[in-house]
Amino acid sequence: MKNNIDVIIVGGGLAGLHLALKFYKEGLSFIVIDKYKEHSSSRIASGLINPITGRRFVKTWLYDELQPVFVSEYQYWEKIFNSRFFKSIDIYRAITDHRLVNDLDAKLSDYGELCRPMTADELTLFQTLTSFPDLGYVFKGYQLDTITFLDRGIDFLKSKGIWYEDNFEIESLDESQSSHRYKDYITNKVILARGAHSTDSRGFTWPGFNINKGEVLKLSSPQLPLDSILKQRLFLIPEGEEFWVGSYNTWECDNEEPTAGGKKYLIKHLDLMMKSPYEVRSHLAAFRPATEDRRPIMGYHPSNHSIAIFNGFGSKGTSLIPYFANVFYQFVFKNQELPTEVDIQRFY
Ligand SMILES: Cc1cc2nc3c(=O)[nH]c(=O)nc-3n(C[C@H](O)[C@H](O)[C@H](O)COP(=O)(O)OP(=O)(O)OC[C@H]3O[C@@H](n4cnc5c(N)ncnc54)[C@H](O)[C@@H]3O)c2cc1C
Repeated sequence: MKNNIDVIIVGGGLAGLHLALKFYKEGLSFIVIDKYKEHSSSRIASGLINPITGRRFVKTWLYDELQPVFVSEYQYWEKIFNSRFFKSIDIYRAITDHRLVNDLDAKLSDYGELCRPMTADELTLFQTLTSFPDLGYVFKGYQLDTITFLDRGIDFLKSKGIWYEDNFEIESLDESQSSHRYKDYITNKVILARGAHSTDSRGFTWPGFNINKGEVLKLSSPQLPLDSILKQRLFLIPEGEEFWVGSYNTWECDNEEPTAGGKKYLIKHLDLMMKSPYEVRSHLAAFRPATEDRRPIMGYHPSNHSIAIFNGFGSKGTSLIPYFANVFYQFVFKNQELPTEVDIQRFY
């Protein structure tokens, strides 16, 4: 017997899961097909949301719109799943180039509560823990424990019978004029949220991607009493009993394995930062679904308006995806237009 459903979501990283949770809230009928990947981009990410980034201290694109949405979404699902995976956290950023201070000071008034200079006491404390310089700023960020969020979300959708662990093969999609058949399901919409693994054998091309690989270390350092995030050359992020250190980024994407060169880079910069002894527990790598213009990619395939893509969240999936899951729902089911900045049509 065939089941008629509104939509099939392919991919269950942060993008596919947020879409699924949005569709669930809206009462749509759907399934998610995800081939579980232990070290997917979503699972090795540190889940950091940093309001001000880069060498020039630029406020994250759309931050004022994104922030209320991601806070309320993660807090809502914490209650429903009866689990904790989201918190606000201070990011202590070292400033080694004193010329940047004038730039930052000039911007401080615009950024309001989002950042402040480190106090003398904080600087002293950080200098005892690491080789911190004599200048630093504190940014008000957030952190999502991505693994716990994904695992609780998957448990929730499995308990509703709408999450399938499987490899979706586009060759098995039986298309007709008005609907698609995939195994036991009939639908007229398939949404692909497959992260960096978005190449199709069937001739659908999805332009605009600029995939890169990120490598990280997980380490233990029992003598390092750090419960905030430290950013010098690398991010040092507390994660339970361990620390997440990253990242080394490369456009050499022949395979998704961690490299000796990546590890060497991470250890070199870690040794310049750390005063406490540490032990490397693991070295992980994943492709990031980054794009040419650093904006997400979504919309229908131009030659098939029942196949859509929801992707391209680059290095900011934790904050962008909750907001754009809503935008994308309005586009697919409420006939709202997509913002041109994220519409895949900009690449055709
Ligand atoms: C080292 C690193 C650090 C990062 N740190 C941060 C951070 O601190 N903050 C932040 O916001 N972002 C961060 N990111 C980026 C973030 O991880 C991504 O933006 C986000 O995870 C993308 O989610 P996604 O669901 O699009 O892709 P993915 O996480 O790759 O998920 C895609 C899913 O689709 C599945 N899939 C693919 N093909 C198929 C198929 N044919 N059938 C079934 N399933 C399929 C995969 O198995 C996977 O589960 C980081 C990324 C990396 C690599």
